[in-house]
Amino acid sequence: MEPAIENSHFCSTLSDELEKALQSEQLRLVYQPQQNLASRQLVGLEALARWTHPVYGNIEPTVFIDVAEKSGMMKRFTRWVLYQACLQNISWQKRGYKPLRVAVNVSPSNFADTGFVDDVANILKQTRLDPHLLELELTECAIFQNRATAAESMQRLSEMGVSLALDDFGSGYASMSHFKYFPINRLKLDRTFLCDLPDSRCMKGKRIVEAILMFARHMGLETVAEGVENESQRKFLQEIGCPVGQGFLLGTPMSVDELATIYRPATFFNSSWARKVPSPLSA
Ligand code: C2E
Ligand code: MG
Ligand code: MG
Repeated sequence: MEPAIENSHFCSTLSDELEKALQSEQLRLVYQPQQNLASRQLVGLEALARWTHPVYGNIEPTVFIDVAEKSGMMKRFTRWVLYQACLQNISWQKRGYKPLRVAVNVSPSNFADTGFVDDVANILKQTRLDPHLLELELTECAIFQNRATAAESMQRLSEMGVSLALDDFGSGYASMSHFKYFPINRLKLDRTFLCDLPDSRCMKGKRIVEAILMFARHMGLETVAEGVENESQRKFLQEIGCPVGQGFLLGTPMSVDELATIYRPATFFNSSWARKVPSPLSA
């Protein structure tokens, strides 16, 4: 992060700038692959927003997401992200690519907003994307901020066919009751669980990951391990039967053009993937 960004005057300037960015070409989405750890196939993509400001350069997502949230711009920002991600996905579908679910991050205020589900429904209608190809990632915060509205929104989204993933699981309360009361399909294991895992002395960390995985399996949830950065983490996750991984080892967030080297209509694998990630994928 640029030191200047911490300045409060700069932050208020930044909200004006974000307003402009929403109407210009400064914002874009990149897509990070999610990989089946056993077959090594690409099974999904997470859309992540990027902002390149003409003067300040690249601004960290955590900074501009915070600005959008505090300046009341989150509704419009999420609409923009959703629309772009759905439009991109339908464009892949039209060109004969294997159907992949694209995940979009939604913020707590989106889930507290009663009009949010209608926005999602409208965007799906406008873009004609199959709702099963859209996933929304929410954090525990989104549930805690307004439990009643969040529950209703999640139920409606689930009935529409949109899947729901609980992001960064374990970084907050890690409450198991969410899975009892809300129609969550996937659990995204926070990357903090993995960061010390190659260290064989970290038995407790390993046991926690194994226990969460077993819990998810019993609940019929799919687990996605976030932050897979090295081969020993990948191997450990594969050994304990974690179905899906996401992380720099398996693929960094990429532009649509960069992704074209690994996500193609005919095949998901070609030799260029091997240049992008340390561990080559097999078909
Ligand atoms: P997230 O949803 O948990 O997204 C994963 C973040 O981890 C991304 O950071 C990604 O680049 C990073 N990451 C992926 N693999 C690895 C890895 O192996 N190691 C490490 N150290 N990091 C990895 P990014 O793109 O900077 O986004 C940060 C957060 O900003 C996201 O966390 C999400 O909460 C938020 N965000 C990004 N785009 C959007 C958006 O369009 N809407 C909303 N509401 N939030 C967004
Ligand atoms: Mg996410
Ligand atoms: Mg996450």
